[in-house]
Amino acid sequence: MRTVTGPTEKVVIVGAGLAGLSAAIRLLGAGRDVTILERESFPGGRNGLLTKSGYAFDTGPTVLTMPSLIEDVMASVGENLADWLTLMPLQPLYRAFYSDGSTMDVHSNTEEMEAEIARVIGGDEAAGYRKYVDFVTKLYKYEMNDFIDKNIDTPFDLLTPNLARLIAIGGFRRLAPKVAQFLKDPRTQRIYSFQAMYAGVSPQQALAIYAVIAYMDAVNGVFFPKGGMHAVPRALAAIATKHGAKIHYKSKVTRLEKRGKRVVAAITEDGTRYECDVAILNPDLPVAYTELLERPLRRIKKLEYSPSCAVLLAGSKKKYSHIAHHNIHFGDSWDGVFEELIDKKKLMSDPSLLVTVPSKDDSSLAPKDRESYYVLFPTPNLSANIDWKTESLRYRDEMVRVLETRGYEGFGDAIEVEHLTTPLEWEEMGLEMGAPFASAHTFTQTGPFRPNNLARGFENVVFTGSGTQPGVGVPMVIISGKLAAERILGAKRG
Ligand SMILES: Cc1cc2nc3c(=O)[nH]c(=O)nc-3n(C[C@H](O)[C@H](O)[C@H](O)COP(=O)(O)OP(=O)(O)OC[C@H]3O[C@@H](n4cnc5c(N)ncnc54)[C@H](O)[C@@H]3O)c2cc1C
Repeated sequence: MRTVTGPTEKVVIVGAGLAGLSAAIRLLGAGRDVTILERESFPGGRNGLLTKSGYAFDTGPTVLTMPSLIEDVMASVGENLADWLTLMPLQPLYRAFYSDGSTMDVHSNTEEMEAEIARVIGGDEAAGYRKYVDFVTKLYKYEMNDFIDKNIDTPFDLLTPNLARLIAIGGFRRLAPKVAQFLKDPRTQRIYSFQAMYAGVSPQQALAIYAVIAYMDAVNGVFFPKGGMHAVPRALAAIATKHGAKIHYKSKVTRLEKRGKRVVAAITEDGTRYECDVAILNPDLPVAYTELLERPLRRIKKLEYSPSCAVLLAGSKKKYSHIAHHNIHFGDSWDGVFEELIDKKKLMSDPSLLVTVPSKDDSSLAPKDRESYYVLFPTPNLSANIDWKTESLRYRDEMVRVLETRGYEGFGDAIEVEHLTTPLEWEEMGLEMGAPFASAHTFTQTGPFRPNNLARGFENVVFTGSGTQPGVGVPMVIISGKLAAERILGAKRG
């Protein structure tokens, strides 16, 4: 594994996103001197929090999977997760609503899920589900150590016995036909392949190895931290501070001072200079290359991005008894959804969407007798010909209209406070192409082909976050922080 060269004692981390915090804690555990410079007044980046009139809304991720990875980061400085976060396993993980009026609860417990599939669809489908669980469990086992939780320098690094095992079980076939080999009903097929959306590819195009994301949530479980998802970065930032990190908020880095192939200091907006032996960059990778390193590489400019999303946060007088914490409302169209979002770059004509209601499990997130709703509609990213300056309000009304036809009667009239984020706002937050799910995980932008975490042309600059390896999502960026730390410390694994 390649590492940075020269002294590594003093580390400056630009950005206190989950990835930056994860890297910081690992480095503190190894005795490094860590300074974090964060543009905002809070940690977490995309994993943000919005408070309004007694409501508290998570602004980004809502589905927490693989908490063992967070536990692992905390353990690197001797802290216990239970002392910092109260995690509740969600039951069900999701409630799925289909256009034919049927619903299905998704459970991580295999027996419970078999019973639910048998109830909604039938015994043969439940047996297929059991085989699918075996398949994704194997995927996880073969992929995690060799392909995800590992710094990869060249495709040759992947030549391990697990590669042969993945090929043998069909990991490099396409996701949709692979899922269909086990699951025959379109309803289960959707439940166990919609995760491709996170990776920015359609189930028809995605490789079957991406079913590992289905393992991470639908098999391993979905959790909810008391206080909302933002409790996670808050806890990580508090641990980093306790173990000696100096975190400076409202400190936007506007320039990196370079000497030859080394970055020697980060300069913030107010002109303060922070000297460093090594710099870790947590801003979106293409933006960091262009604006901070001033190296607009051709290969980086040519990246393709995942679809984006519009998120409507709504504080409401209305509660609905038929919904769970996470609700996926599938439209009739499925392949068409991906085709519109990715190929045609159009808004969905028959939307599939997510509604999360955190106040169902933590009443402190809304005033008494009120509910806080998080509504996410996937949209194309800013490469589409959509002018969000004029489209936003119309689309907000469209989102409310669709919700009202999908079982949320009177949703619009019951809203007391609201906040809308569109691709335009994601771009203003420094996310290339207004794409909060980063560059798409197409074959040519995955694993060894995804932008490397060692900055090209520099000896002491490491990237961390969703734009580099292994990729997008809370579990992946937590791992990415570990991989960045290993580029500085060398890989010392037990
Ligand atoms: C709407 C939405 C829903 C999502 N849902 C899920 C989900 O349910 N489950 C899941 O696992 N994942 C989900 N994700 C993905 C997940 O949130 C991200 O992959 C992850 O949070 C990205 O973390 P990061 O550390 O890479 O980047 P960021 O969170 O973007 O962190 C980068 C940090 O750098 C700071 N920064 C940027 N530029 C500068 C500068 N010049 N100077 C100083 N600081 C700077 C930023 O303020 C920020 O704090 C979702 C994302 C979004 C947006």
